[in-house]
Amino acid sequence: MPETFKVELDTPIYKGSVSCNTGLFINGKFVDAVEGGTIDVINPSTGKLLTKVAAATSKDVDIAVEAAKKAYKTSWGLKVSGAQRGELLMKLATLLEANIDEFAALECLNVGKPWSESKGFDMKLTLQTLKYYAGWADKVHGKTIETNEQKLAYTRHEPYGVVGQIVPWNYPLTMVSWKIGPALATGNVVVLKPSEITPLTALKLAGLVQEAGFPPGVVNIIPGYGATAGAAMSLHPDIRKIAFTGSTLTGRKIQEASAKSNLKVVTLELGGKSPNIIFNDADLEQAVKWTAIGIFSNSGQVCTAGSRIFVQEGIYDAFIKAFSEAAAGVNTKTGDPFAEGTIHGPVVSQTQFDRVMGYIDAAKAEGATTFIGGERHSLTEGFFVKPTIFTDCTPDMKIVQEEVFGPVAAVVKFKTEDEVIEMANDSNYGLACAVFTENVSRAIRVSNALEAGMAWVNCNVTTEYNVPFGGYKQSGYGRELGAYAIDTYTQVKAVHINVGLRI
Ligand code: NAD
Repeated sequence: MPETFKVELDTPIYKGSVSCNTGLFINGKFVDAVEGGTIDVINPSTGKLLTKVAAATSKDVDIAVEAAKKAYKTSWGLKVSGAQRGELLMKLATLLEANIDEFAALECLNVGKPWSESKGFDMKLTLQTLKYYAGWADKVHGKTIETNEQKLAYTRHEPYGVVGQIVPWNYPLTMVSWKIGPALATGNVVVLKPSEITPLTALKLAGLVQEAGFPPGVVNIIPGYGATAGAAMSLHPDIRKIAFTGSTLTGRKIQEASAKSNLKVVTLELGGKSPNIIFNDADLEQAVKWTAIGIFSNSGQVCTAGSRIFVQEGIYDAFIKAFSEAAAGVNTKTGDPFAEGTIHGPVVSQTQFDRVMGYIDAAKAEGATTFIGGERHSLTEGFFVKPTIFTDCTPDMKIVQEEVFGPVAAVVKFKTEDEVIEMANDSNYGLACAVFTENVSRAIRVSNALEAGMAWVNCNVTTEYNVPFGGYKQSGYGRELGAYAIDTYTQVKAVHINVGLRI
């Protein structure tokens, strides 16, 4: 029988226990992995082991998919009304709300997020998303289509059946809500794999799925490594759709696996290298604040992070001065996620720390100027990187082209609007962009010209549960959130009814 992870916390911000089961959640129960493997879960603020959780392999994926298939046929899918699905989703949201502080604390422990982010952003958006899709469950319907008097034609928006969902470590629970919310609302059943690095809040939510009374097999949550469990899901012949959030490299593998197996429908939310453009006429103070949020929140581990910062030459010196002061301010508020006032935590793992430091070294080697930061934080344990700004960057540098996924900004100076549009679009990615200007015509012109699925004007990286989220180019396809996500979890059946044609 899988064990429960439980710790007592006595911190300035959170006092009490946090706990979750450490097994795989399959068919409504927590079980050990068939092959008995486990994953070490590390606290990134200390580098120390938090607990071990079960590691699914292809055998567990098979069992979970079987359970999901059975549930789809007997107790979900077209067997229950949208209203019933919505009620269960709302019950899940209500249970989450009642335990929200414990979830926030667990996310702080496992991801190193400051409490202000975990409670103030992640948990809030997670809850909003579940409630929003609970509301959608009884509002999914097709259309009637006029053809001629002898025919009635209409469409039905039907679920796919078993949906595989694979999520990353940067917003662990929020990503689960973005995935299961629309999938369950539309009548699909789910096999979800959290990141092996951050499985704890997903497992805790599995406990609430049980408590809410979802029929066994409707939601299966199976931590596991990508190369084993994730790959097995991508190749599984009975999974009809995969919704993936993660790196572009993995997205490509999932698409290949789909082509090799059963041509499952794939939606991909991938990496980014979002341009953040500051024009001479921007409100300087606001541009600096939003730019800092854009690159330093969640320690830069944000797919939409505004990591390429283009600054027009007239405002350049004033901007860099104020921006580096903002970075220095973030540095003084770096540390324990549970300490009052912390706004900057560690990166998620030793691997991620090494990756970020590798990009910092490459930027230095390629001739960028380290304006501030560029090194490990002085804290002696944990994976803390100082907020870093590189200036004198040129478009060909690795730091400008590749996704760092850390608190590292690359600043490029520009002269004209045309030039910056050209430079901003010179990227394989197209997830998001931000434009700072007080000229409304320029704001619209430039945001229209940028190749990105999301554009922010005079703000940055804000996300709303009812507004679509997703990218262009190699940042993926399909949309999450809002009504758009509902479409990606349904397939359309056209029904033709003969009401008078005799042959
Ligand atoms: P990752 O691609 O390494 O892993 C993501 C998930 O995929 C994990 O659950 C992992 O176990 C799994 N995985 C790994 N290899 C696999 C394989 N061969 N087959 C199937 N699954 C596999 O990404 P990460 O390091 O966890 O997350 C960071 C990346 O996620 C960044 O590139 C970031 O931009 C991206 N991301 C994108 C969005 C978005 O909405 N566009 C949101 C968050 C993160």
